[in-house]
Amino acid sequence: MRQFKTESKKLLDLMINSIYTNKEIFLRELISNASDAVDKLNFKSLTDDSMHVEQGDLAIRIAFDRDARTITISDNGIGMTADELERNLGTIAHSGSEEFKTENAESQGDAIDIIGQFGVGFYSAFMVAKRVRVVSRAFGADEANVWESDGLEGYTIEPGERADHGTDVILTLRDDVAGENGEEGENYSRYLSEWALKDLVKRYSNYVRYPIQMMVTKSRQKPKPEDAGDDYQPEYEDYQELETVNSMTPIWKKRREDVEDADYHEFYKATFHDFEDPARTISFHAEGALEYDALLFIPGRAPFDLYSKDYEKGLALYSSNVMIMEKCADLVPDYYNFVRGVVDSADVSLNISRETLQQNRQLRAIARRIEKRITSDLEDMRDNDREAYEKFFESFGRGLKYGIYASYGAKAGELADLLLFWSAKEQKMVTLAEYVKAMPEDQKAIYYAAGDDRERLAKMPVVTGVLARGYDVLLLTQDVDEFTFQSMREYVAKDCPKVYEDEAAREAAAKAVADGAEPELEDRHLELKNVATGDLDLASEDEKKEAEEATREHSDLFDAMKEALGGNVQKVAVSARLGENDTPAVITTEGPLSLEMEKVLKRGPEGDVEGMPTAQRVLELNGKSPVFGKLVAAQEAGDADKVKLYTGLLYDQALLVEGILPEDPVAFAKNVCELM
Ligand code: ADP
Ligand code: MG
Repeated sequence: MRQFKTESKKLLDLMINSIYTNKEIFLRELISNASDAVDKLNFKSLTDDSMHVEQGDLAIRIAFDRDARTITISDNGIGMTADELERNLGTIAHSGSEEFKTENAESQGDAIDIIGQFGVGFYSAFMVAKRVRVVSRAFGADEANVWESDGLEGYTIEPGERADHGTDVILTLRDDVAGENGEEGENYSRYLSEWALKDLVKRYSNYVRYPIQMMVTKSRQKPKPEDAGDDYQPEYEDYQELETVNSMTPIWKKRREDVEDADYHEFYKATFHDFEDPARTISFHAEGALEYDALLFIPGRAPFDLYSKDYEKGLALYSSNVMIMEKCADLVPDYYNFVRGVVDSADVSLNISRETLQQNRQLRAIARRIEKRITSDLEDMRDNDREAYEKFFESFGRGLKYGIYASYGAKAGELADLLLFWSAKEQKMVTLAEYVKAMPEDQKAIYYAAGDDRERLAKMPVVTGVLARGYDVLLLTQDVDEFTFQSMREYVAKDCPKVYEDEAAREAAAKAVADGAEPELEDRHLELKNVATGDLDLASEDEKKEAEEATREHSDLFDAMKEALGGNVQKVAVSARLGENDTPAVITTEGPLSLEMEKVLKRGPEGDVEGMPTAQRVLELNGKSPVFGKLVAAQEAGDADKVKLYTGLLYDQALLVEGILPEDPVAFAKNVCELM
């Protein structure tokens, strides 16, 4: 017996026990080698006129024998001499394929698309096999040789028999291991079935370019005998047929213009288990330092589990038509987790595990490019097929917003322009850019209101107040919305007509344009402002002064009201934001937390717990409302009970407008009835 080299032994152990996390890939590795062997024969025949290779005969075959516990992978490729068996299979991490590529690189350049390159794939067979026997006859040789090993110490090479050139790799599977002490067992016998082998071929090797054939058992009806009577029951019999299991042509390698949309859609539905056509298909070929093909799909609707913990994002990663990973998560950012597809690069190595992939620089470069492509495709859909985009956004918009929020606003540059919000003025979904474009020249911020019901928001006095001033208000109805806006703080609108602060500058600019100059443009930084929080800075100087004076004048009343409300509000004041609105009072907030955000947090996983941050509420009164007059009168009459009653009612009804139930609904109802 010939011994494996010491390094080889160590490597073999490493191989079998840790490089591959997944035992079933052994079949993929052996098929890849078979495909390489056929490729090499093919390649040689192209450069050597004396060789005659019948293209139609080139194939890979898989067979199994349940009793002998063997799986055989055969090819009619280039085969190996005894020397080559020694060199390629006796030394781990020696790749005959890599050598072949280098040797032939000059004559063919990059045209050789061979999978192998590391010289370890073959040994993955030992993950499932206790013995591996390789019978090989090199092309042009008269004799065959047999390499055999148990994958532990060494191997033997002896003369053998094979009718024609090519290789058979015969695995004798390990014995099954029963699970014990909570440890999972190993069921190697499961590979000994037509179904299991077909499934593995389809999963990992579906696009290998040579037919992968298997004898399969089929059933057919026996011919009806001549003398069959009226009560004849059809009889069936099993028969064997050679079937090609793989589909061979990878659709992502074809050029876009050569593929019908319908074919892309079929591929998408079959591969990613969707019933609906995808909304978009993106296909591109990247050249340069890193070459790869990408075929991406934006689904037509969200999978049911998209927003659950179990959902796994990722693209299928292939290397030269062979699947390496079903869902490579590093290829798409979280906010594009809905994108499905395939990336195939000969430059990414087959023998890669999850851990090494993560640090793979090439992979990161691919991921960056893919992200850009998805973004630009979504932009294109937004601009040119708005209806489809709105449907897309309904399904996946939440994820995009969450992407901004989760990055603390860092991803706003990439994602903000993909967002849509309901415009109270336009009565439709608009982008932030569209909102800014429609703004009157004197508008200085983007206004929004947040709550769960659009209709209710549209009627809120703080919203109608801003609308009445001629400014649009975005109505945000998803819980993530306001958190997204807060993480962005501002929206940068690109290339807006410049706003001139003083009259002279404006006139000078207008004159320049009249003389033929291009109008000046600027990026405008617009604050995102909740119409129900803080100072909106919309009131005129007069309105502000009036409100301040009234607040000061009635400070006794407001102190009493604040006391009546306990710790619920931090301030009671006359409002400067209501304009001509006739609502008697509104609740606004100061500080970073709005009422809506408070609501969302209370609903969240932490729940309504002690010590949770709360919105700092302000009860703003409408100085022009008759109710205000009544309050003042009660205070002046020294009727403290009445002041208290009215205050409670005003506060509760203002909360109701915000969609928040009064703390004590029964008392509220009782008080209302009393007044009636
Ligand atoms: P790699 O495929 O990365 O080169 P492997 O460990 O899978 O490494 O295989 C080692 C070498 O053994 C291959 O490079 C090839 O030269 C040779 N080999 C393996 N399987 C076959 C086969 N079916 N026919 C011909 N040569 C083979
Ligand atoms: Mg290989």
